[in-house]
Amino acid sequence: MIAERFIYGFPRSLESRRLPAEFDAFAFTIPYEGQLPLAYNMLQALSSASSQKFFTIVGGSSPTSNPDIYLEFFDAVYVGELEPSVHLVVDALLEPSSLLSSVPGIFVREKESFQRVYADNLNTIPHLVKPIISDVSPITEGYPLEVSRGCPMSCKFCIGRVIYSPFRWRSLSVLKDIAERIVESTGVKRLTLIGAGLSYVPHLPQMLEWLVNKGIGFSLPSVTPSLIFKIHELIQYSGSRTITFAPETPSETLRRHIGKAIGNEEYFQAAFLLRKRIKNIKLYFMFGLPDERKEDLTQLQSFVEKFVHFGFQKRNIKISATPFVPKKGTPFEDEGMPSLEELERKAGYFRRLRKEGYVVSIYPLKAARAQAVISLGDRKIGRLLKLLIHKYGVRGWLKLPETELGGSILQR
Ligand code: SF4
Repeated sequence: MIAERFIYGFPRSLESRRLPAEFDAFAFTIPYEGQLPLAYNMLQALSSASSQKFFTIVGGSSPTSNPDIYLEFFDAVYVGELEPSVHLVVDALLEPSSLLSSVPGIFVREKESFQRVYADNLNTIPHLVKPIISDVSPITEGYPLEVSRGCPMSCKFCIGRVIYSPFRWRSLSVLKDIAERIVESTGVKRLTLIGAGLSYVPHLPQMLEWLVNKGIGFSLPSVTPSLIFKIHELIQYSGSRTITFAPETPSETLRRHIGKAIGNEEYFQAAFLLRKRIKNIKLYFMFGLPDERKEDLTQLQSFVEKFVHFGFQKRNIKISATPFVPKKGTPFEDEGMPSLEELERKAGYFRRLRKEGYVVSIYPLKAARAQAVISLGDRKIGRLLKLLIHKYGVRGWLKLPETELGGSILQR
């Protein structure tokens, strides 16, 4: 048996440049809804490149959150983390599909329900330390080191904490061992630490100190101010020039309402501690949140100005603004989404910052609403999307009026 990778836009496999026709099954990973149209497009390309029928299976965050809609596109959906069932899935792919449906985590059309699978103990599951590095996707940033899965916080919009629960982490000794083996086998001297709830891993400060002492650089995903209070002195030795916070909203009241109990003052104190240690601050915001008022957004200006006050240049303050997208399985699943007009108006608060010299990126509004349709939709919506993407193309279908895209399910 051989397993190789295909990536969007490349007709041959990365490893040995094989054609799709040489494979019997294709497994897709879809981390977020926006990639479903691309995956479907790839499926169509694979079908036309291969005369024989092949089997398709999909997994990842988005299919785990709403497997139903994906069954319209793929033969099977894998719900959850693959490690506990990987051998069963591989064995079943070599056998008739009746066996596959009995594998934990597998959801197929004939089944009424599914079971999300997760690894009980991250210490006992393997971590890739010697990857096949292709010239199409070389390691340019840092090598990923997965520290934790899940998150102990209760943000009501967050799908990550739902589909990766419970909160688990690798022990300090296991992390050190993996880091050493990665450095030895790849020669990289920089690690990108992965984990949504990374800030809450109890031994993270010790791990970072160990990396610094070993001369291994690191970068972090978005972190909490409370982590910065503990590790700010290590940051200047990390080789990283950027720290990312995700306050979600400049309003402390709204932030608490959406389940993120972190005060504005904590972000400002963290910025104060970092002011001479790093160059860039990244801030992730959402807009169009449930119960968001005008007063919540008008605080944006003074919130970001605090970072300037502590010495960060406006051009080094990178602001990412994304419309709130309701996700299936979260407490905000039924909250709907603001209309395009309202989102447009709210995005204006961020555009104004761009004019003042901050670096601002705003996620395309219509694409965000389309993501929400995929996130909440059922198989009927799946059939509709399939038809539209087939007819109008990967990007063309987004230009259709929302009434034709199943947008009515997003009404507030
Ligand atoms: S802190 Fe981050 S990962 Fe954790 S629940 Fe909130 S948004 Fe999700």
